[in-house]
Amino acid sequence: MRRLTLVMTHQCNFDCRYCLQKHEDVYMDEETGRKALDLLQKEILAESASDKDVDKNVQVSFYGGEPLLAREKIERLVAYANEMIREVPGGTIRYEITTNGLLLDREFIDFAKRNKILLALSHDGEAQDLVRIDRGGMATRARVDEKLKLLLRSFPETIVMMTLHPDHVNTLSDSLSSFHELGVKSVNLVPAHGERVSWTQEKFDVLKAELEKAKEMYIAWNQGENAFRLIPFENKIRNYIRQKDADNAMCHFSCNKTMVDVDGRYYPCSHFIGREGYCTGSVEEGKDTSAIEDLEARRVEPGICRDCAIRFRCRHTCACANHGHTGDMSSISALQCEYEKLVIRLADEAAMELIREENPVFVKRMYKE
Ligand code: SF4
Ligand code: SF4
Repeated sequence: MRRLTLVMTHQCNFDCRYCLQKHEDVYMDEETGRKALDLLQKEILAESASDKDVDKNVQVSFYGGEPLLAREKIERLVAYANEMIREVPGGTIRYEITTNGLLLDREFIDFAKRNKILLALSHDGEAQDLVRIDRGGMATRARVDEKLKLLLRSFPETIVMMTLHPDHVNTLSDSLSSFHELGVKSVNLVPAHGERVSWTQEKFDVLKAELEKAKEMYIAWNQGENAFRLIPFENKIRNYIRQKDADNAMCHFSCNKTMVDVDGRYYPCSHFIGREGYCTGSVEEGKDTSAIEDLEARRVEPGICRDCAIRFRCRHTCACANHGHTGDMSSISALQCEYEKLVIRLADEAAMELIREENPVFVKRMYKE
């Protein structure tokens, strides 16, 4: 899969307490988006001229700030990208947008459905009004809950993306319960990082207790025909079943991912946008292969991980997570290491229980999807 992410704007209508973005009022112009798509098409066609097995599957993501602030441009770029892929024999395209939800409406959801756009909703559940307020300082929970219900009617598999703020991580299990009651079937969890949050041992212990509860919920909600995907657990379980390196499976840093900033400059992943020393090309000049090689060479496995028995199941070489926690792509924070160990243990315990019960829906999902 070739991944192209277009940063539509740095602006946002939210003011989340952990957000590290600057929210400048800058937007990608359509011409920049079209050039990025043209370059991608050119790259696929050039490669397929000499290699018939070349990957022609494309995923285009629209990113922000809040991407739906540039909704009309997204609609036009999707139409353009649909045309672009028609000129690639055997090519496929899919789209992805993660939104805070406030600007979602019936019309956009229908547009997403027609164009096979996967919409993910960022929502912090019970902590939403404590950490995800709007630009006017107003609470957002009730409004976003309504958008979530609307979204679930068209996309029952909508993924909710939760960011865990250390000060409110005690709400995690209650949040999962309220999502489950609303009919949500997939939740992803990411601990907030960066200079605006602080994880102490005490807060990590609360996270641990909440994830223990989450494991029990996960087992309970995957009985019989029921399915509830807690994505961090499922990634670890599949990663074990397939014996695939967790980073290769999930981190697409630079090698097969291009992130295009509003000004047309390329970066290896969202965390590095605008950072000095991480630009990997532009829509004007294409990919800078020597910059990409240089970045890849700078990303090495953290020393403490080299002899670790679970290193293949751990995202210890994820450049973005490492840089976010430690300021260095190749260093792992104690928190991240503990978090990975915890999630792997809990995922294994849950999987053992569900496999011991010979839960057919779970087994099929893990082995076949
Ligand atoms: S919705 Fe996203 S981009 Fe906007 S303030 Fe929150 S974390 Fe930042
Ligand atoms: S669990 Fe810790 S030591 Fe082991 S690979 Fe992951 S980060 Fe490294």
